[in-house]
Amino acid sequence: MGALTLPRKVVVLGSTGSIGLSTLSLFEESGVEVEILALTAGRNVERLIEQARRWSPKVAVIEDESKLETLRDGLAGTGVRAAAGAAAVAEAAAMGADWVMSAIVGAAGLPPTVAAARTGAIVALANKESLVCAGPALLAIAKAAGGSVIPVDSEHSAIFQVLQPDCAHRVARLILTASGGPFRTWDRAAMAAATPEQAIAHPNWSMGAKISVDSATMMNKGLEMIEASYLFGTPEGRIDVVIHPQSVIHSLVEYADGSTLAQLGPPDMRAPIACAFAWPDRLPWPAPRLDLAAYGQLTFESPDLDRFPSIGIAREALRLGGGAPTAMNAANEVAVAAFLDRRIGFLDIAAAVAGTLERMNSLGSLVVTESDAVDNAMMIDASARRIAAEVVAQKHRRL
Ligand code: NAD
Ligand code: MG
Repeated sequence: MGALTLPRKVVVLGSTGSIGLSTLSLFEESGVEVEILALTAGRNVERLIEQARRWSPKVAVIEDESKLETLRDGLAGTGVRAAAGAAAVAEAAAMGADWVMSAIVGAAGLPPTVAAARTGAIVALANKESLVCAGPALLAIAKAAGGSVIPVDSEHSAIFQVLQPDCAHRVARLILTASGGPFRTWDRAAMAAATPEQAIAHPNWSMGAKISVDSATMMNKGLEMIEASYLFGTPEGRIDVVIHPQSVIHSLVEYADGSTLAQLGPPDMRAPIACAFAWPDRLPWPAPRLDLAAYGQLTFESPDLDRFPSIGIAREALRLGGGAPTAMNAANEVAVAAFLDRRIGFLDIAAAVAGTLERMNSLGSLVVTESDAVDNAMMIDASARRIAAEVVAQKHRRL
């Protein structure tokens, strides 16, 4: 086997979350030699301390500034510097790593992801919200800096792996697979009464709370359609979704000649992380292997667009363009937080997102005005959050 050229210096943004844990687990299991420059977390200071003690980064950053003292105490005597605040997270992203895992949840991940992209690092992108919020700007920044953005979202990793660069103009369709989430077979009345606990219990993947709710509403697939459109330059009309409850086929590319290529594997996020880490090489590690005979059958169905309106909302946002995807993402973050907080019901999530987009569109607030595309996205994100909070409050009063 030839020698691998792998990244050496790495930063893991969002190290205490589901993807962060999978990233560190992959480093551990594969035995790759990495120098971790920084680990960052939002609020989970205990886990951050534990990770920093194990991995000895130069700096450990907690976004929540009220936890800085605890972090300092926990790292006393280790030589690991403690820092806090959103600016410190973005600084950690720009420490000059070869490879940065972007695994913060939500548009909060945009500034550090942009900071990493500006350094020309390979950005392993799990944080799909940053791409939906400001995709074209983020990709242009990475390109201008001589770096790259490699998708970690399993569907986009699949497409990235089977997309032949010479034939990109011959793509007829991207087909995103979706598990269908925990409510795939529920009727509307049951969905209306669904609790956060039920929404978070995903059948195949163990993930953070926000993306688990997104899987339950299928807004996750809506976000992923936008993500795919930006990453691969594919218009909305050429992106389809098929439900595949076993989550073995991670997505497909159909070419002009009718040939369709797919990527398969057991549902384990360490696989797309390994791909983003070693690309264009392949990382040898004791990965779980696919046993198709053990599955026996793989099944497929069309999504029910009435029970899962989020797919249609995302299509509309992509068609509208401008700030619509940005606003959709922000409104969804506000609505999901309200649902997790039991302020609105499950079906209110999509309704609040649609209501916010409608209101912003009629006010003309989806138009891109600033010359700086990242600033502009952050402005639209902020105004969508304000309007979504009002829409959510109205639904809450009606509950
Ligand atoms: P998670 O909630 O488990 O972890 C999020 C991480 O971000 C944690 O480390 C948390 O401390 C940190 N964080 C939260 N808010 C922050 C803030 N304001 N500033 C700085 N750090 C903050 O989420 P996850 O499931 O690991 O997902 C992370 C991202 O990856 C999301 O964008 C998600 O859509 C995407 N993703 C996740 C999976 C998965 O299997 N979990 C799959 C595909 C894509
Ligand atoms: Mg995905």
